[in-house]
Amino acid sequence: MTIDKAKLKALAEAANAVTTDVNITMAVGADPVEVKAVQDYLQMAMPQAVLALLAEVERLASSRSKKERELEQELEVWRNGPSCWTCGDTGDVHDITGEWRGECDCLTAQLISGNQQRDQLKAENGALHKELEGKALVPVEPSDGLLMSMAIRSDHALGCPGYYDKKVLGRANSGVSHARMLECALGEMRKLHEEVVGTGFYSPEKDADYAAMAKGAVHG
Ligand SMILES: [Zn+2]
Repeated sequence: MTIDKAKLKALAEAANAVTTDVNITMAVGADPVEVKAVQDYLQMAMPQAVLALLAEVERLASSRSKKERELEQELEVWRNGPSCWTCGDTGDVHDITGEWRGECDCLTAQLISGNQQRDQLKAENGALHKELEGKALVPVEPSDGLLMSMAIRSDHALGCPGYYDKKVLGRANSGVSHARMLECALGEMRKLHEEVVGTGFYSPEKDADYAAMAKGAVHG
């Protein structure tokens, strides 16, 4: 609803000039000129018109306060000023439409990026630590020392040089030399080590199958 504000103002001024109390003016015996001034004004200032005016006042008030808030924020930035006006110290550069245009190359952006990388590394490090709980890091390729230790663990005699070459034992050992015995044992140990590091038969996916075979063999 559009209101002729100039006309309403003129009528209000005319009515205001003759009365401050409509009841007195409209009472019997009042001056007809004064009554008309008030009637003309009331005819235009109907509730619909008053409500429309109030709505406009509210709209103006809220739009002004929104503008004021924006200006205050801008002022705040000006006062405490970001050190980089390209990214506003956010590290990100946006064009006028708000579209992301990439990372800024200022010191603030580098600091933000560095902090993010540090946080990510911390998180990855934490996850790794958690994953390693209760586990041991084992080289995929066993050292000669490890294989020898494993062989001796399996057969203590292999730790005594020439043990199987001794004449008495030699007969008992069907003539197989100590060196040959050790060579075979080291080969066996290498195969066992392959099982541990996942380059042999075993893989975690096959665990249940092997477990079932073991159970069947023990209880079957
Ligand atoms: Zn910047």
